[in-house]
Amino acid sequence: MIDFRKVEPIKCDVCGKNLHESLCDYSALVAWSTSADCTVTEDVYFACKAKCDEQMSTSIGMTSWEDLSDLAIPTVFVNWVLSTMSKLHDGHKYSEKAFEKLLLLIANMVKEVMREMTVEEERRFSNLSDIANY
Ligand SMILES: [Zn+2]
Repeated sequence: MIDFRKVEPIKCDVCGKNLHESLCDYSALVAWSTSADCTVTEDVYFACKAKCDEQMSTSIGMTSWEDLSDLAIPTVFVNWVLSTMSKLHDGHKYSEKAFEKLLLLIANMVKEVMREMTVEEERRFSNLSDIANY
């Protein structure tokens, strides 16, 4: 089981800045490139807007993107996750690297949009974590 509380923070793929600090000021983004037939997300990167993003998009080519600050809005985040799940159900594929970045992004955004667990919920979560394949 992936424990989202223990995942590393998302960092700019160019300068290495921790982008958690950029969630409140619309200064960072997640961008992705897809195959020509739009069936595979081939690459995903995180970047500071402007200089770092320009450097990445120059090397990767045409991309789509979202503001990380928008994804930190609970309703936007949930709609984005549901949309991503629908795409997966419809057969859209992710490269290994792109999927790992997707999981990292979701785990980091969940920390922003979810409430803290109660003590009882922490205990239940710990019990569930002991169950194989949970
Ligand atoms: Zn940067």
